[in-house]
Amino acid sequence: MPKDRFTSLVVALLLAGTAAAATPPVPPETVATQLRDAALAGHDIAFTWVSELTTRFGPRPAGSPNEHAAAQWAAGRLKALGFENVHIETFPITAWVRGQESAELLGATRQQLTVAALGESPPTPAAGLEGDVVAFASLKDLEAAAPGSLTGKIAFVTYRMVRTQDGAGYGPAVAARTEGPAAAARAGAIAFLLRSVGTDSHRIAHTGTTRYVDGKVAVPAFALSPPDAEQLERLAALGSVPRVHLFSSASYVTDAHSQNVIADIRGSAKPEEFVVIGGHLDSWDQGTGAIDDGTGTAIVVAAAKLIRDLPHKPARTVRVVLFGSEEIAQPNAPFGDFGGNSYVALHLSELPRHVLAGESDFGADRVYALGLPAGVHSGPFADSALRVLGPLGIIAEPAPRHEVGADVAPMQDKGVPGFALKQDGTRYFDIHHTPDDTLDKVDRAQLDQNVAAWAALTWLAADSGEVNFRAAATAAADEP
Ligand SMILES: [Zn+2]
Repeated sequence: MPKDRFTSLVVALLLAGTAAAATPPVPPETVATQLRDAALAGHDIAFTWVSELTTRFGPRPAGSPNEHAAAQWAAGRLKALGFENVHIETFPITAWVRGQESAELLGATRQQLTVAALGESPPTPAAGLEGDVVAFASLKDLEAAAPGSLTGKIAFVTYRMVRTQDGAGYGPAVAARTEGPAAAARAGAIAFLLRSVGTDSHRIAHTGTTRYVDGKVAVPAFALSPPDAEQLERLAALGSVPRVHLFSSASYVTDAHSQNVIADIRGSAKPEEFVVIGGHLDSWDQGTGAIDDGTGTAIVVAAAKLIRDLPHKPARTVRVVLFGSEEIAQPNAPFGDFGGNSYVALHLSELPRHVLAGESDFGADRVYALGLPAGVHSGPFADSALRVLGPLGIIAEPAPRHEVGADVAPMQDKGVPGFALKQDGTRYFDIHHTPDDTLDKVDRAQLDQNVAAWAALTWLAADSGEVNFRAAATAAADEP
């Protein structure tokens, strides 16, 4: 992205806002308001970033050459944008590589089914697998199946994810994806199928990782497109037993690596304290990872760039972390690591001075709620933040925020308070983890609204040096 395409406009806007902006100290809220307005003023940073990332590198599965090249590019671009301490931190992983895959409904209604092997799922034998399909309404029902009751059969969970604005339908649906293959194997099944974890009705399947149990995924596992899942359900309801042939030549690369990309804006008064904002550079392999999570990386980079170009620096250091290998993250996995864990391992001594962390990983649609950690969920900091964010249509979440996301979770486990800028997820799960996750789905006006919210809140947190988020969170946790 050529610097001059946005720098002059943004700086001019910020300088024009008030002459006082160049003469510290200016109240953090004043600068945050200017950042918010500058982000909405037609700059090109975020869209240019996600456009180049998805176009130059395409799909970026963890450990792939595309993911490595994207990280190299990102580091180079962050240096060119004027960030400090830009570097890449590499860590070992076992990569999973999709091969050829297919599914066919056999018998009188013979037809191809649209499937996607789940991430980490082992291949089938070269000739494929064939078995009768036994449907279960939920993971719980499958888990109740008696050992040996599915010997030689294919277990199939038909649960439908519910569409909600906040994405709350994902958790109940995704449990079948992560835990289903192990439950199927315990009952003797030779393979596992589930209705795609998604909210669309297209003949397209949603992949996603499944969970290792005792060091492996027990049986080959696939997501079915929603229409194909419904076809199998209806056949079963008519009293027939669908028989399906499954094939996958997926494989593993045991000596692969991934990497995090780090970039700082060094603080003026408290440079040893960090406000961390991040997204993940890796993506699933079938789309180009535009909304998951190219836009998340674009949003935090653009927000930080607006801060970087201000005439003065925030009190604390702002750190951008572009994580690698988020999609195959496996808590306590034996085979490797992921970006969030690697960051914590390499920055352990700095973590006590990480005052606040957040990640953008929910597409690019507009932010509608601010989630702050316990202790500052109400009070002067929250009031100030909501005065700045309110005009963007953002309200306070009703309760303190605990979960932030997979990449920040390991930091939170070490006591770093987290925040969230909650996005509208109404349409996110129509294309999440599908070949349809491509750049054309990004709404530029909503993308810039995200940048405005991130720039403003990040500035407020970084320049409010007197607000001790960690102590407030600890105090709130100690309350009876
Ligand atoms: Zn993601």
